[in-house]
Amino acid sequence: MTGSLAPIRINGAGPTGSLLALGLANFGYAIYLHDPLNAEQICSRSRAYALTHSSRRLLTRLGLWNELIPFLSPFKTLRLEDRGINKSVNFTDLDLHLSNRATRTVGWILDHTILMKLLMSKLERSIHVKLYLGEDNCQPFQSNHDFGLVIAADGPRSATRIRLKFPWWSHSYDQGCLTAKVRFRDIESEQAFECFRPEGPLAILPLGKSDFQVVWSAPLDRCRQLAELQTSAFLDQLCTILPHGLEPDVLLDSPAAFPLEISLAPKLHRDNVVLVGESGHRCHPVGGQGLNLCWRDAETLLQLMTSASCMRRGLKAVPARYTRLRYFDLLTVGLATDVLVRLFSNRQSGLLFVRRFGIFILKHSPWFRRVSLQAMSDGPSTLLHDLPN
Ligand SMILES: Cc1cc2nc3c(=O)[nH]c(=O)nc-3n(C[C@H](O)[C@H](O)[C@H](O)COP(=O)(O)OP(=O)(O)OC[C@H]3O[C@@H](n4cnc5c(N)ncnc54)[C@H](O)[C@@H]3O)c2cc1C
Repeated sequence: MTGSLAPIRINGAGPTGSLLALGLANFGYAIYLHDPLNAEQICSRSRAYALTHSSRRLLTRLGLWNELIPFLSPFKTLRLEDRGINKSVNFTDLDLHLSNRATRTVGWILDHTILMKLLMSKLERSIHVKLYLGEDNCQPFQSNHDFGLVIAADGPRSATRIRLKFPWWSHSYDQGCLTAKVRFRDIESEQAFECFRPEGPLAILPLGKSDFQVVWSAPLDRCRQLAELQTSAFLDQLCTILPHGLEPDVLLDSPAAFPLEISLAPKLHRDNVVLVGESGHRCHPVGGQGLNLCWRDAETLLQLMTSASCMRRGLKAVPARYTRLRYFDLLTVGLATDVLVRLFSNRQSGLLFVRRFGIFILKHSPWFRRVSLQAMSDGPSTLLHDLPN
C-alpha cells in the first residue's frame, strides 16, 4: 500500500463504490473496500443500466470504456411516447451535443454482471486495494480518523449514513417499479423506448439482439401482483402495454418489484465522511438517470481528490467542496424526474395541454431536442458551461 497519500475507506462495493475505488487506486490511494456481500453476490444482480455520455466520459478516463465496448448495447434512437395524448417524438444522434456526436449513439445499455465482473477483476489485481468482501462486521470502522476519508457508497439504506445520523429527506411514491428481461419477436434492437402511461412510465431498453430490459412503473401493489404471475400470464399483461410492433416472446429472468422513492441528504458530508451514489440520493428510474447521477458523484470526488490543491493541502477541504459541487446536479435531476412523473401520470386538462405543447416543441425544434438530450445525457449543469471533449 502507498505511504504518502492518506488511506481511504469505502463502504459498499456496488457500481459506485467499486468504480471510485478503482479510480482512486489508479491514482495511488490505498483503498480499504468493504461490503457484506461477497464478490459473486455483488456481481449477480439481474439488472441493466442505461449509460449516458457523462458515464462514457468517466469510463473512458478510467481506461474501462474500450474493454466494455464489446458488451455494450448502443441505442441510436430514443423514442418518447405520451400514451395519454397519443403523441411521440424521437431523439436521434443528430440531437446530440457536438462533442458527443462522433459516437453516433444516444446511449448504451450495460448488464450489471458484466460491469461488476470487470470492476471486481481489476480491484482484485490492484496492489492499492484491500478487499473486505462477504464479511458481516462491515459496520464498525476502527475510527473514522484512521482514514483520510471515509466514503459511504453503501446504497439507499446506507448503514454509514444512518449510524452518523445524516439528515435525510425522503418521499415514497405510490408507484413501484417492476423489472424484467424479455426477448421480443422480429425487432430492430437499436431503439430504446420511454413511454409515459397514466399508471407510470415504461422503459424498454435494448440488451442486444432481440433481448430487452423492461422497467415498468405502476402502483406498487400491481407491480407485486405482476411479479407473482405465471410466465405466460405475465407476457400477456406486458403485451397490452407495449409500443406498437413489439411482441414479447420469452421471459428471460424472474420479474422483480421494487418500491420507488425520491430522497436526498441535504448535506453530503460530515467531518471526513462523504455520501456517494445512492447513499446520498435516490430518484425515480424514469429516464434511466440513477447510476449516471451516482457516477457523476464519483467523478467529482475523483477530480477533487486528485487535484493539485488537494495534493498540496490534503483532503480536509474535500468533503465540503464535494457537497457544494454536487448540489445543483442532484437537485435539478431529482426535481426533473419528479415533475415528469407527476406531469405524465395526471389527466387534468391544463396539464394535458402542457404535454401536448411540450411534445409539439420537441418534435419541431431541433434546438429544444438538443438541449433536453444534453440535460439528460450530461446533466443539467453542463447547460451552463462548456462540455469537456
Ligand atoms: C428497479 C430499478 C431499476 C433501475 N434502472 C436503472 C437504469 O436503467 N439505469 C440506471 O442508471 N440506474 C438504474 N437504477 C438505479 C441503479 O440501480 C442505482 O443507481 C445503482 O445501483 C446505485 O449504485 P450504488 O453503488 O450507489 O448503490 P448499490 O448498487 O445499492 O450498492 C451498494 C452496495 O453497498 C453494499 N452495502 C450495503 N450495506 C453495507 C454496509 N453496511 N457496509 C458496506 N457495504 C454495504 C451493498 O451490498 C451493495 O453492494 C435502477 C434502480 C432500480 C431500483
